[in-house]
Amino acid sequence: MALTGIQIFKLLPKTNCGECGTPTCLAFAMNLAAGKTELDLCPYVSDEAREQLAEASAPPIRSVAIGAGETEVKPGGETVMFRHEKTFYNPCGIACLVTPDQSDVDAQIAWFNAMKYERVGLMLRPEMFCVKDTGDAAAFEALVDKIVAECDASITLMSDNVETLKKVADKIKQYKPLLYAATEANADDLGAYALESGLPLALKAENIEGVQALTEKLTGMGLKDLVIDTGSRELKAAFEDSIALRRAALVQQNKALGFPTIVFPCEMTQNYLEEALMASTFVAKYGGIIVLSAFRAETVFPLLLQRLNIYTDPQRPMTQEEGIYEINNPGPDSPVAVTTNFSLTYFIVAGEVEASRVPTWLLIKDSEGLSVLTAWAAGKFAGDDVGMFIKKCGIEEKINHKSVIIPGYAAAISGEMEEELPGWNVQIGPREAAHLPKYLKDWSA
Ligand code: SF4
Repeated sequence: MALTGIQIFKLLPKTNCGECGTPTCLAFAMNLAAGKTELDLCPYVSDEAREQLAEASAPPIRSVAIGAGETEVKPGGETVMFRHEKTFYNPCGIACLVTPDQSDVDAQIAWFNAMKYERVGLMLRPEMFCVKDTGDAAAFEALVDKIVAECDASITLMSDNVETLKKVADKIKQYKPLLYAATEANADDLGAYALESGLPLALKAENIEGVQALTEKLTGMGLKDLVIDTGSRELKAAFEDSIALRRAALVQQNKALGFPTIVFPCEMTQNYLEEALMASTFVAKYGGIIVLSAFRAETVFPLLLQRLNIYTDPQRPMTQEEGIYEINNPGPDSPVAVTTNFSLTYFIVAGEVEASRVPTWLLIKDSEGLSVLTAWAAGKFAGDDVGMFIKKCGIEEKINHKSVIIPGYAAAISGEMEEELPGWNVQIGPREAAHLPKYLKDWSA
């Protein structure tokens, strides 16, 4: 049962040292009760209090780590129904189903290795292969060996044969594969193995009641890292299950349903474009691992982008650090351009400057993560402010001219900037970043 802020406060050291990032223990306790902070941030909680608090402060949906290294996924750990209430923390994993009798396994592994997209300074990529045993244990084992040898994907091992699962899982235990799946029939056997091996375990039932009965049985055995498959293979039913599970865990505080899910759009349709649309439904609501029939650039890339958007904090825009960025090795005669610190603005502008091959100093002014027009309208990219920043950022020591290019959308700040920067020539650049290369090539101070 959740503790109140005051109950939590009684268990804290009450020294108000501030090391947790909040000024007082009381404020930290209130944040903890509201699920806004983590107990681990306080280094001084006694072991006894930690034990009591860990249970009370654990997120209502358990976060389950699957895989190792760069492709580890950790679905779950969410605390709100809707992203605008706070944020979603742990991006869903994007997976591809492969079987030993499939002819394009090599191509799928090659696609997996190739699919790495850099976007706003982050690397986007799918994470997982779900390897399904189709009855030939040796072929299943060989396929798992091949994937482990040829790529760094996380793995879900899928087999109806518990002995086969155990044998293959033992071989690759260090990669922390997900075992799929415990059912009513094999829960004792597979649950005991998952407990002994410490591997995460997926469970499959026919409906949510069945899921609850299974999770209660497995948690009763001591298992904690569970992943739920409700068994639905039709979009509407799977979508309803997904929402019902999230609501049960967060609103009704039903611990038995507080686990991430695995969903199979690949088994809901034969049409890969429809499959991608279904997958996008579960990226938004609330798939933990989303399994596709194949890695295709035209479906995986949009899903990765959607995932990036869904799993960024809506209250904290992605920002670039304020400062001077050197693009294409600029020198004293190179142009100077200034823009805002919204990540997307920075990466688009920097990309165009780089593509122009014109050595350029790019100045990034803190605008609280707003894009040019929004920042200007909100007074976060005002002429006197930008002028002051240019004076203080140190660019004057690096150049032998006094010209600065401002974004075309912020043309209105040029007068104020010139007042703040006497002797400077404030040049109005293009409105669209796409026109920057030509502008820079024609530029003169
Ligand atoms: Fe209190 Fe711990 Fe935060 Fe210090 S770190 S203020 S002791 S909660």
